[in-house]
Amino acid sequence: MALLRIRKYPEDILRRQALPVENVRDAELQRLIDDMIETMHDAPGIGLAAPQVGVSRRICVIDVSGSEQPESAGPVHVLINPEILDASEQIVAEEGCLSIPGYHCDVKRYGRVIARYTDRDGNHQEIVATDLLCRAIQHELDHLNGVLFVDRIGSFRKELFKRRYKKSLSQAEA
Ligand SMILES: [Zn+2]
Repeated sequence: MALLRIRKYPEDILRRQALPVENVRDAELQRLIDDMIETMHDAPGIGLAAPQVGVSRRICVIDVSGSEQPESAGPVHVLINPEILDASEQIVAEEGCLSIPGYHCDVKRYGRVIARYTDRDGNHQEIVATDLLCRAIQHELDHLNGVLFVDRIGSFRKELFKRRYKKSLSQAEA
């Protein structure tokens, strides 16, 4: 397994519409999934989408167990070609993103979703998600459509974010 480089805002790949996965049993794809899980745990983060590691494919991994030790982590959800079938309730909670380090903001999301996806063995699955898992699914699915959580915080707060983020980037370079 290998750690992958996490792409950071404003890299272009984060804005692309990711392509569906056709062959789930592909060995290279399985390796990518293992590497994504390792990269997510190492970061540490609770979710990671393939575009965040430079692969424009509809895959994301989620682990909301909150463990930083891979041995005690899990269950890790591997969602391939995920779709939201139904969504209800709106909840505001703080969010962050491995591609936008150091920035957190309140984001309004659905509190309950039903999602359909293919698992890494090629089986079709349906999941009813609430709480953190529900939020993570929506956040990661956004990544597959080139959407970042800062697109969902309103134009005023987004302008503030852009200014602050640019400043922190230039400080990091200095
Ligand atoms: Zn993210």
